[in-house]
Amino acid sequence: MGGGVHIQIILKMNKSENNMCEICMNVKLYDHFYLPKIYLECNNYMKQLVDSGDFEQIVDSRLIPLDKIKDENDCWVDDIICHEIRCKKCGQHFSCGVNTYHGGGSFERQGKEMFRFGSSKPAQSL
Ligand SMILES: [Zn+2]
Repeated sequence: MGGGVHIQIILKMNKSENNMCEICMNVKLYDHFYLPKIYLECNNYMKQLVDSGDFEQIVDSRLIPLDKIKDENDCWVDDIICHEIRCKKCGQHFSCGVNTYHGGGSFERQGKEMFRFGSSKPAQSL
């Protein structure tokens, strides 16, 4: 017996990203929503992060609440749906943007250029 296999997962980290706490370092990012269900998976994941108490959801006129993405007819509420959450510990923002009309989108750590659908001010100017 014994002989357990240890699989080490090495996260690709960008050294230029600073002051991120260990919670944020372990957040799973999505480069590309190649299927709607990947976005839904990510949406669920973001809700879990908020439910865990480590993150809070950002409320903003350009953002849609995580649990309000479909209407009563099971249709997307908008062509472009954005969410944002923030780590309560270190303040790191994570943004999710999905284009439900043309497809595509991602869930990323803020700090690098990403979805800024028509927003006039950067989200970090809170
Ligand atoms: Zn953090």
